[in-house]
Amino acid sequence: ASPSPTVIIIGAGMSGILAAKTLHDSGIQDILILEANSKIGGRIHSVQFRGHTVELGANWVIGGGPRSNHLYEIAGKLNLKTYLSDYGNISANIYKQEGGLYPKQVVSAALEVAETRDQFCTSFSARLSASGHNHDDVSILVSQRLFKEVPTTPLDMVIDYFYNDYEDAEPPRVTSLKNTIPRYEFLDFGDQTYFLADSRGFESILIYIAKQFLSHKHEVIRDQRLKLNKVVREINYSKNGVQVKTEDGSMYQAKYVIVSVSVGVLQSDLIVFKPHLPVSSFILPFPLPLPFSFIKQVLLNLKQQWKTQAIYEFDMAVYTKIFLKFPSKFWPSGPETEFFLYAHEKRGYYPIWQHLETELPGSNILFVTVTDEEAKRIEQQPDIKIQEEIMDVLKKMFGNDIPEPEEILVPRWWSNRFFKGSFSNWPIGYSQRRHMQLKEPVGRIYFCGEHTYSRYLGYADAAYFAGIETANHLIKCLKHEKYCNGHDRHSTK
Ligand code: FAD
Repeated sequence: ASPSPTVIIIGAGMSGILAAKTLHDSGIQDILILEANSKIGGRIHSVQFRGHTVELGANWVIGGGPRSNHLYEIAGKLNLKTYLSDYGNISANIYKQEGGLYPKQVVSAALEVAETRDQFCTSFSARLSASGHNHDDVSILVSQRLFKEVPTTPLDMVIDYFYNDYEDAEPPRVTSLKNTIPRYEFLDFGDQTYFLADSRGFESILIYIAKQFLSHKHEVIRDQRLKLNKVVREINYSKNGVQVKTEDGSMYQAKYVIVSVSVGVLQSDLIVFKPHLPVSSFILPFPLPLPFSFIKQVLLNLKQQWKTQAIYEFDMAVYTKIFLKFPSKFWPSGPETEFFLYAHEKRGYYPIWQHLETELPGSNILFVTVTDEEAKRIEQQPDIKIQEEIMDVLKKMFGNDIPEPEEILVPRWWSNRFFKGSFSNWPIGYSQRRHMQLKEPVGRIYFCGEHTYSRYLGYADAAYFAGIETANHLIKCLKHEKYCNGHDRHSTK
């Protein structure tokens, strides 16, 4: 890497790698990628668990719809093993809080209500969008209230969780209807979701992309322009360039920087921006008379407040898959048993379960998905305590005569300082204008990441397109200064 590249990219997840590739392909090869972790991938993170590859992060790719999905296509090209997730039979697989299955016809009736409610929410969202009033938005919960069927029983709640929280990782109470429904991910790419379970991992999709522009030996990227274990702590920017400092004391200079870290990381104090993106407006006891430079600084700070607000008002949700390896299988297997739900009076209490008998036969691995406050509560406990809670739930479902797990694997996305959550979610009250500001450059700092791409927000596809979009924006600026709207740009509400 040159001592002073044109662009530094912070983060080597899907969006950072795509941004770097887009720059490279356009002829801007003088780049440097700084990644905090010891490998690329970010929230695409495959690990070995008792001899099997499991995905701590992204797991499903979507395909079969009107628009082709790059990630799905790459998975096909690499012959990665993917399995169509069949949720069709959950009506036969929902367990009561105290044990025993709900009768199929009871669940079918509840599912029918949920489906009609979902359709109502979709058409209500379309009506809001058609109204043309930018501010007309409600939470998904409000639209459910308008439908007059708000889920309150454990059964209705777990079904509603399956429809909403399982996708958004936050409850309908906080999620924006207009910016979440319809779910364009499925509308564009198809409603077939494929669970990727391959020994090479989901990561191999990203490695495949990275290998197209970074030097490599087999599956290992070895390129001077990618530096791993580099935790960025400070970004200094001015109209002349940027200076990036890392935790190990290194310093890098460039003309521009692209920041691809999650919105959760942006909300934390891991990276300090100098000058700061101020948190609130100035209500200081001003010294009088005010020096001109001070007034200029205050005005500049006020101008830039839009950015901090756009960052802090967005939501970083938490979605956690907890894996358990058992000595033997005690759950039903065979066709249409893969997914099973646990209904509890506390919404989201170890609600969605999946066995891997089809994907990893004989592995005796189960995993349960938890989100939001429950995920945060759970990840603060030691593994042994989590295992105890899980075993209580499993005993309710399958009886006391079940074996203890041999191992438990609990990802802690929320407390991990390089992520601070799993993926973003659009909260009610957050305008589209604010979202534009979330990705808008500040001076020579450009932003990408899944949170900046609204159409597929949260998904790996969002990260894919966000990287390309931001890099193209910067390429335009590098070619013609008039497109550098980050320079001295100020948008105020
Ligand atoms: P990241 O992957 O977070 O990349 C940012 C990079 O920046 C990271 O590598 C990080 O280590 C690095 N970084 C952070 N701070 C610093 C710093 N200070 N200095 C240097 N580097 C830094 N999507 C799907 O499409 N399908 C799914 O099934 C799916 N399931 C998911 C399940 C879970 C549990 C999670 C966590 C995510 C899931 N996603 C899924 C979402 C998908 O993984 C993300 O949207 C996508 O990977 C985000 O990519 P990104 O490049 O925007 O961010």
